[in-house]
Amino acid sequence: VPAPGRPERSGGPHLCLAVDIGGTKVGSALVDDVGRVVGYHQVSTPASDDPEEVWDAVGAAVDRALDDARAIGSTPEVCGIGCGGPMASELVSPLNIPAWREFPLVQRMAERTGLRVALDNDAKALALGEGWCGAAAGERHFLAMVVSTGVGGGIVLDGTMLDGRSGNAGHIGHVIVVPDGRRCACGARGCLEAEASGPAIAAITGQPAAAAAPSIRRRTGRLVGRAVASVANLLDLPLAVVGGSVALGYGDDFFGAARSELQSCARLSFSADTRIVPAGLGSSAPIVGAAAVGWRAMGALRPSAHPPPDDSTATE
Ligand SMILES: [Zn+2]
Repeated sequence: VPAPGRPERSGGPHLCLAVDIGGTKVGSALVDDVGRVVGYHQVSTPASDDPEEVWDAVGAAVDRALDDARAIGSTPEVCGIGCGGPMASELVSPLNIPAWREFPLVQRMAERTGLRVALDNDAKALALGEGWCGAAAGERHFLAMVVSTGVGGGIVLDGTMLDGRSGNAGHIGHVIVVPDGRRCACGARGCLEAEASGPAIAAITGQPAAAAAPSIRRRTGRLVGRAVASVANLLDLPLAVVGGSVALGYGDDFFGAARSELQSCARLSFSADTRIVPAGLGSSAPIVGAAAVGWRAMGALRPSAHPPPDDSTATE
């Protein structure tokens, strides 16, 4: 959205105002054009029915990042947002933020910041970030996904993020992995999200997902591996990057089972060597992903030769 009165760049590094909007927290940061995070601010997402109250929290996080930019004599060139879906054009209706239904996020952000604003769903944002300077850096064909409160993903094929008709390509959470399995929020049965998300695991086990026994951790990995195998067979993908609190928290139990299932299910000449690896950007992945959304809109997103931002402060 071209905004009137867009400020001119005033020197300093090239910066994107990155905003990650989730159901529990809103993060904001300045991220440069090689993925380095300059400062990071976080506020809680209000549990409110009032869309303006949620927006005020987002605005507060954004203002802090803009203060940081002024302090170093710079102005961001673009604003990139990662937000829970679904979304249609520039209106968001995140499942995890009930107060926002068809909320005009892009317009409001442009009004507040005077910046060009680019928006995408948080899973696709994470995929863009991982391909930019994370575990898929330099890869032209990969799937990146999150296994957390929800299960989502983004697919890069031939070096291009797939958007699809409505921008929702990559919804791996609704690939069916258990025939006649648990009822999913989407209405189908046995979707990956209905079997492997944190809330699904809690419902299956009767305890928080983080407390799940090794057998459940392995089952979750197995189901993710099964879905990844279908995607690898379908799209000729050599790499799947998996992040999110459930996957990363379950660690070796999860990834070992996922690899084993992938080997069993992806057996074509081009898919037999497909790999599953943990996300490389760790806790920075959502905010770096939001920045990648912004730089992508500017045509400035290229695989970075720099290490992930977590390591970028290391001294020589
Ligand atoms: Zn579903």
